[in-house]
Amino acid sequence: MQPEPVRLNSDANGELSDAIQCFLASPPKGTPIELLELFNAVDGRNYLPPKIFLEAVEQAPIAISITDRSATILYVNKAFEQLTGYKRSEVTGKNESVLSSRSTPSSIYKTLWKTIQNKQVWKGKLVNHSKAKQEYLAELVISPVLDQHNEIRYFLGMHRDITSMHQLEQRFTFQKQLTESALDAIPMVVAMVDMEGKVLLDNLAYKALQGDFRGVEPSDLLINAIEQQMNYDQGVLCREGTRFYNIEVRLDPPSNGSPRWFSCSGVRVEELDEAAHTYFNPSNNRCCLVLIANEITESRKRFHEARINMLRSNMAEQQIVQTMREAISAAMYKLRAPLNVIKAALSMMEANNQENHLQTILKQALDSGDEAMDSLQDALPTPATEQQTNINLNEVIHDVITLSTERLLSAGIVVDWRPATVLPTVLGRSNALRGVFKYLIDNAIQAVNETRQDAREIRIQTRVEASDLIVEVMDNGSGVPEHERIKVFEPFYCGWNNPRERSGMGLTMAQEVALSHGGSVEINPDFLGGCCVLVRLPFNNDDRD
Ligand code: FAD
Repeated sequence: MQPEPVRLNSDANGELSDAIQCFLASPPKGTPIELLELFNAVDGRNYLPPKIFLEAVEQAPIAISITDRSATILYVNKAFEQLTGYKRSEVTGKNESVLSSRSTPSSIYKTLWKTIQNKQVWKGKLVNHSKAKQEYLAELVISPVLDQHNEIRYFLGMHRDITSMHQLEQRFTFQKQLTESALDAIPMVVAMVDMEGKVLLDNLAYKALQGDFRGVEPSDLLINAIEQQMNYDQGVLCREGTRFYNIEVRLDPPSNGSPRWFSCSGVRVEELDEAAHTYFNPSNNRCCLVLIANEITESRKRFHEARINMLRSNMAEQQIVQTMREAISAAMYKLRAPLNVIKAALSMMEANNQENHLQTILKQALDSGDEAMDSLQDALPTPATEQQTNINLNEVIHDVITLSTERLLSAGIVVDWRPATVLPTVLGRSNALRGVFKYLIDNAIQAVNETRQDAREIRIQTRVEASDLIVEVMDNGSGVPEHERIKVFEPFYCGWNNPRERSGMGLTMAQEVALSHGGSVEINPDFLGGCCVLVRLPFNNDDRD
């Protein structure tokens, strides 16, 4: 069907066109670029004859209407007819309100009118309906058209149907809310991170973690920690589609809070590229990482506590066996002296060929003494045999410090623990080595306690020296005088002021264990202001690289 001809008389056309030219000469502030382009489109000429102007407006793909000062329609273009369903003849002379579906709040109309009467451009959205009472959301631009005296002569309206865009937006918002509420319901930390590390999506647990870390982006902290555990590279992850599962990482909260542990998994999601050129050639080298971090601090703590309790009971058992061994060894040691005297007396008597009653008694005493020695030897409990494993000495020492915490606290001793950041392993028996450091720490506590000074400190440090691992246990107690530095390693030597519950076997045992690992225990002669016991253990050859 042919569109109806424009029925404006030529005078009116000329007047309208003049007004438009005037409008274009000084468009009001905010006039949209599309509007300016539309009226400048024809040949770029400064003056448009009414016929050409009408043709341009007529063919424009956007609904255009021109009204008088009270919004009475004077002209509408073809796109207006198509969008509203009204023929030109049906709306000319009527108010634009014919399009109102009565769902737009009156406050919007008030602002609209206030703006255009102030000779400003109004932009906004109104709910319109078509002739068939079909509602649509209209995006509108209304510009006042001024005459030579700067008075409003006409209003020029441009509008288009943005219902489908609105529906899309609504659907998108709904989907986003749905995704966000689903993510918020998950008790794990979830974040979607782009290649630049920007967080595109997160959940409540993520925000809570961010609060705990005083605003620092948790994704940065987690990704850094994951990088230290594995060769994580988001570029590789994108190209090869690799993913990672259950990488356990530790985060240390600010202000020395207790460490928190997370089990992290990551999967790749292709990032949408909205650039027009990707319509036919979708790019596939950009991606996002969906990072999921499950907090496992509590289970880690429980596991750690259970392990420490197990170690505690192991060491208590070991201690009982050790105490019995020490007691029996001490008894044998003490018994050996009188037996040796008897043996010497008997051999003197035999040399003098003296066969008498005393000799018989002494022989009997020697026999029962030897019997007692054999019984004691049989009663000597054998320490539990232990497999050799690769041991990280930092862990062993940390365990012993944890086990000694109560004693250290009650003695008011501060422990300065300085582990080497990276330490090769030692091939050895972990319980036996734990025992060594337990002896040394117990000695350090006793030494500090005996000096009764205010500043009580034990420093323990580990380091690597040539092919050995060195552990230094230092205290600021009274120290070991030079003449006792060898003696203290002898069995049952006790130099404490208060030797209660101390058998004098600790350093002997420590040295024995160190020797059986190819190492040594010695007292550093150059250490001033207390005692420094130096344990040297060769590290595992396989670990040298
Ligand atoms: P109305 O009584 O017409 O107006 C409601 C309120 O608007 C009044 O209380 C008053 O505050 C203000 N107002 C109305 N007319 C005037 C005036 N002449 N001077 C000062 N204030 C006034 N409306 C639509 O719903 N859809 C459209 O697509 C649309 N396009 C328009 C295009 C142009 C170029 C212009 C100038 C206006 C357009 N309008 C449009 C606005 C329309 O003219 C009505 O104001 C609106 O539809 C409200 O109509 P109403 O009958 O509900 O209330």
